[in-house]
Amino acid sequence: MLRWFALPFTFAATFALAWPLVAPLGALAAVTVATLVLAAALLVVEQRWPNRPDWKPADRLLTEDLLHGVLGFLPGNVGGSVLAALLFSSVGARSDLWPHGWPAALQVALGLVLFEFGSYWQHRLVHEVPWLWRLHQVHHTPRRLVLLKSTRIHALDLGSAAFVSMAPLCLLGADADTLAWVTLVTNVNALV
Ligand SMILES: [Zn+2]
Repeated sequence: MLRWFALPFTFAATFALAWPLVAPLGALAAVTVATLVLAAALLVVEQRWPNRPDWKPADRLLTEDLLHGVLGFLPGNVGGSVLAALLFSSVGARSDLWPHGWPAALQVALGLVLFEFGSYWQHRLVHEVPWLWRLHQVHHTPRRLVLLKSTRIHALDLGSAAFVSMAPLCLLGADADTLAWVTLVTNVNALV
């Protein structure tokens, strides 16, 4: 029973944390804080109640994962998103094709569909094109599925994924709040 509610509870708790922070901090900072708190909480939960007893990360592997996070995950994730925003936000502002009049939840839903469309094709390409697979295969080396294993990804791999996922939203002129909430949903999904 607990397993059925774990995912919706995690989404609800993370959004409940981020929501009151939007007014004082802005959407992007609120989403960043909520994501970091969720990651820290999941690390604690994972240590306390691992899915399998032998999946607790060893110290050496933990250091490797942290290095992957600093050298690959963070620069790739932030770099790809920021590059898409820098290149395409002004185009989006001029085209203004985004349905700003829609309710916020529907705008986020549309953003997620577009985001996942880019994400799907990037992921499919890195699996099917041999030289891209060489870049991506490090992401599939872990044998134990613990949270920090998600950091095992090449910066160019994650950077291109973030770029092609965010580019359509920026090109259409989605506002910063929508981009932030789409990012939070995808962050929770990725962490869990
Ligand atoms: Zn893959």
